[in-house]
Amino acid sequence: MEPIAETIERLGAIVPDYPKPGVVFRDLTPVFADGPAFRGVVDALLAEYEGRFDYVAGVEARGFLLAAAAAYAADKGVITIRKPGKLPRRVFSESFSMEYSENTLEVHQDDIPAGSRVLILDDVLATGGTLGATARLIEKAGAVVAGFGVVLELKDLGGRAALAGYPVHALVAY
Ligand code: AMP
Repeated sequence: MEPIAETIERLGAIVPDYPKPGVVFRDLTPVFADGPAFRGVVDALLAEYEGRFDYVAGVEARGFLLAAAAAYAADKGVITIRKPGKLPRRVFSESFSMEYSENTLEVHQDDIPAGSRVLILDDVLATGGTLGATARLIEKAGAVVAGFGVVLELKDLGGRAALAGYPVHALVAY
């Protein structure tokens, strides 16, 4: 069977100058659209953290796909980390800057029981701004970050250093 890293490299699309000139966008939708590849990605992310988490959090929007599938497969709950104004009840908010924009993320204040271990999933790790803000949200809620899982890490953008102290597992790193 083809190693999952090779599957991701074979199917992933590279889109220069999207969404802004100078950004090389890594589009993983063809990986997600391929049944065995999607299952392989989710299984590989889960295998790294087996037995070490109580919830899976996904970052809107592509992280939702991974988190929902992983949570279902592991028989755990899924936590939604959302863009501002989308969650209807009291939220914690965290602002951050990333490769091509400024952003804010939110989580419901009472969605995660205090002390629970949360695995955080997203498609791409670039500067680490998104996942760093997500970790702060999880910790504001009184929970613990079990680690991060991403399909692709863009090493030149320094995300791993920005997340120093947390376990980071990337299936492919460029
Ligand atoms: P960052 O906060 O800089 O680590 O950026 C990570 C978030 O932005 C993830 O949710 C990615 O989906 C998205 N992202 C940032 N840069 C890229 C890129 N070059 N290609 C694809 N997605 C990206």
